[in-house]
Amino acid sequence: MPAHRDGWVLPENSGTQPERKGLSLRDLPAAPTYLFDIDGTLLNSRDGVHYNSFRNAIKQVYGVDTKLDNIPVHGNTDVGIIRAILEKAGRGHELEAELPRALDMMRNEVEKNIAGINAELCPSIRELIEELHAQGKILGVASGNLESIGWAKITAVGLRPFFSLGSFSDTRERRVDIFRHGIEQARKLLSEKLAEKHETANPDAVVCVVGDTPSDILAARANNAPVVAVATGIYSYDDLLSHQPDLCLHCCTDLFAESSG
Ligand SMILES: [Mg+2]
Repeated sequence: MPAHRDGWVLPENSGTQPERKGLSLRDLPAAPTYLFDIDGTLLNSRDGVHYNSFRNAIKQVYGVDTKLDNIPVHGNTDVGIIRAILEKAGRGHELEAELPRALDMMRNEVEKNIAGINAELCPSIRELIEELHAQGKILGVASGNLESIGWAKITAVGLRPFFSLGSFSDTRERRVDIFRHGIEQARKLLSEKLAEKHETANPDAVVCVVGDTPSDILAARANNAPVVAVATGIYSYDDLLSHQPDLCLHCCTDLFAESSG
């Protein structure tokens, strides 16, 4: 890792803001494949569609009326959020039996209200995704959303055609497992792509993760994946920097600073 370069996080400067100058796409960890978190990384939802699906499903299935106050949602997974709500209500033991029904209700409600999804792309995300796609990178999403809900948001912002794989929380509650599954899928696709050219892929090919929370950094680390943290969710640049990602950005526009001026 070119640890001396601007914007790269070193243990000795963790928690401080390095000089921010002249970052470019070349500062991204080099990888044939990239996995993006959705909420706070690719986009931020400006609607209550996903939130209301939680509230309504949990109320109807478990009889718990919640506003999701004091529930850690950022960096959590949809299944993890339901677990946290039930545990707070002292009903954690009821989770499993009714979980399939609750998740189906959420998926159905979001599907029904899909036109109400109002998602805002994070700065320069479209440029970054288009550029990586043009470079032939394999792009995927790895998110705590349920699959159909995650793809609905991605579709709403017009990015669906750029992603060839996704890993979600339908059958994996922990982010570390969601990332592991995404990394496995990415390596499999890479291997198939290279096989078409009669080339052999490295079974340990680098898969770089991009996320907006300390949970993303920790889950990437647990999978030995390089991680880019971007402060476009609720966590500040300094918060993220203190968790020592490989690269920390205020937003993806940082990567285009060189060309813009
Ligand atoms: Mg996120």
